[in-house]
Amino acid sequence: MVLLQISEPNQLPANKQRYAVGIDLGTTNSVVAIVNEDWPLAIADPNENVLVPSIVHYQQNNIEVGEVAKQAVTYDPLNTIYSIKRLMGRDFGEAKRLGFDRIYHLSTSANNLPLIKTQAGEKSAVQISADILSFLKKRAQKTVGMELSGAVITVPAYFDDAQRQATKDAAAVAGLKVLRLLNEPTAAAIAYGLESGGEGMHVVFDLGGGTFDISILHFKQGIFEVIAVGGDSALGGDDMDDLIANWIIQQAKLNLDLLSLTEKRKLLLTAKAAKEELTTKLEITIDFNKWQGHFTRREFNKLIEPLLIKTLKYCQNALQDAELQIKDIKDVILVGGATRTPAVQEYVAKFFQKKPLANIDPDQVVALGAAIQANALLGQASGELLLLDVLPLSLGLETMGGLVEKIIYRNATIPTQKSQQFTTYKDGQTGMIVHIVQGERELVQDCRSLAKFELKGIPPMKAGMAKVEVIFQVDADGLLSVSAKELSTGIESKINVMPSYGLTEKEITEMLQASFDHAKEDIQVRQLREQQVVAEHLLVVVKKALQEDADKYLSQAEKNKIIASLQHLETIGTTQDSLKLKQAVTELEQATQIFAERRMDGNLREALQGVSIEELPHAKD
Ligand code: ADP
Ligand code: MG
Repeated sequence: MVLLQISEPNQLPANKQRYAVGIDLGTTNSVVAIVNEDWPLAIADPNENVLVPSIVHYQQNNIEVGEVAKQAVTYDPLNTIYSIKRLMGRDFGEAKRLGFDRIYHLSTSANNLPLIKTQAGEKSAVQISADILSFLKKRAQKTVGMELSGAVITVPAYFDDAQRQATKDAAAVAGLKVLRLLNEPTAAAIAYGLESGGEGMHVVFDLGGGTFDISILHFKQGIFEVIAVGGDSALGGDDMDDLIANWIIQQAKLNLDLLSLTEKRKLLLTAKAAKEELTTKLEITIDFNKWQGHFTRREFNKLIEPLLIKTLKYCQNALQDAELQIKDIKDVILVGGATRTPAVQEYVAKFFQKKPLANIDPDQVVALGAAIQANALLGQASGELLLLDVLPLSLGLETMGGLVEKIIYRNATIPTQKSQQFTTYKDGQTGMIVHIVQGERELVQDCRSLAKFELKGIPPMKAGMAKVEVIFQVDADGLLSVSAKELSTGIESKINVMPSYGLTEKEITEMLQASFDHAKEDIQVRQLREQQVVAEHLLVVVKKALQEDADKYLSQAEKNKIIASLQHLETIGTTQDSLKLKQAVTELEQATQIFAERRMDGNLREALQGVSIEELPHAKD
């Protein structure tokens, strides 16, 4: 269990060589956190404020971020940008649909991205987010007294490739090295140390300022898998503010249309303050203009009841999507400032029939989990290392008719393990060829063949009677091992393969492109991301291979050549230039080709046993 502690800001013993931060880049608020002496803690400003409003105020020669910028929303609205997260990875049309053109002056970039006109020039969503990230970076660097070695930045679980890439771009612009993007619900689960509780289903209920996200996570064999997401991108604590504001208007017998902009703004702030006060009090007094009135938690609860019921409907839907029942849920985690409202906690508790976890500050929990992950990725965690990475291409095996049965899907977090049962196709079949392939397509001929091995000695049985369990296991370095076992006899066979090894970037891209022809995502964005994943994988795999087998298979000259290419790819690192990255990856692929072949041969020789048996497995349904 990871313990969490709130400690004094700006008082860290300088005992660490390197720091990586966790960043919750929120729609309403952002938070930066670090792990210090095994304690995750959110970094505060000198006034003890941890939350940084995700607001940027552009002046002609100055950029303000956070609390100071928030003030400017009232007096300089056109140059003060909030909720920019909603625009990440979105095009101009979507920006208009989201109503950004009603708040700001928009223009279009050459590639149809929305730009917001400010007195400091036209700003993209990436640039504005980068300005928030720079602010957080500076705050962290000031506290730790050194440059940061990297960051784990959280994103909503439903963010698509374009939105994730935009987030990475923003980090690059801010000069932050992204160690990994992490799903927000997963970060919250890590902060609570749910991985120490073993396998189970967890719900993350995240009610922020303007968004509601429900996620269901399955923790199994060292990883959190997001198995269902749901929610509403226009539902949050701000809606409660609106309800209270309307209530005040009615009680004070005011006409909303007659209020000035400043008064309307003041009304909303009054409503928000009232809401937050009712979190700790049962009854309060509200002052607005010359009106004064009593407001009770009971009345407030009644106002927001429809909103709460709505959130529970989304929970119901997510459970249905995941084919789960309430009794299957082990823990419910509350995330987001608006879950402080007691009625929210009561409704959630009633619905899930258990008390939700809320003892970690709900608006810090995501950043704290990200910090724990960042620290682990730097290799500085003292306890267990929780590594999350993704597979670039799906892994599966050949079944009858040259079809591919995918076992582990692309983008699955690794390490991971999946198993599936197959059966024999013919009466009396005594052997089975397990043909492992990689790729997204349905036919074996369109995928890449990784390895073949046999399971022999199955006692003759009627077709469909044998039960062969095939297990795919991918370790943290992306190395795959496959085993097959006939369950009635216990006969077993096993092979190790290296999926992304020896695969050129071009091949990966082509395979992806072919299978995503109908997908409307931006292929270029994905290519770069895939390349980065491949580059990262390749570096890890090649290093490990060199360490283990260089002496066995390589001459000194061959080894030196590989090391030179490896160092080159490493210096290119997280460039946004996909061409450069691609060249460096290809160079390393080529340099290691002979090495890979020799190793693969060595491994295969050990795993394969001469005789060839033609029957292929047949997927059991
Ligand atoms: P986001 O994830 O969208 O960036 P946050 O998690 O920071 O947002 O949540 C912001 C919301 O939490 C706001 O609506 C704010 O009013 C609400 N909030 C903050 N503190 C409290 C409190 N004590 N009681 C009720 N609501 C609160
Ligand atoms: Mg949030």
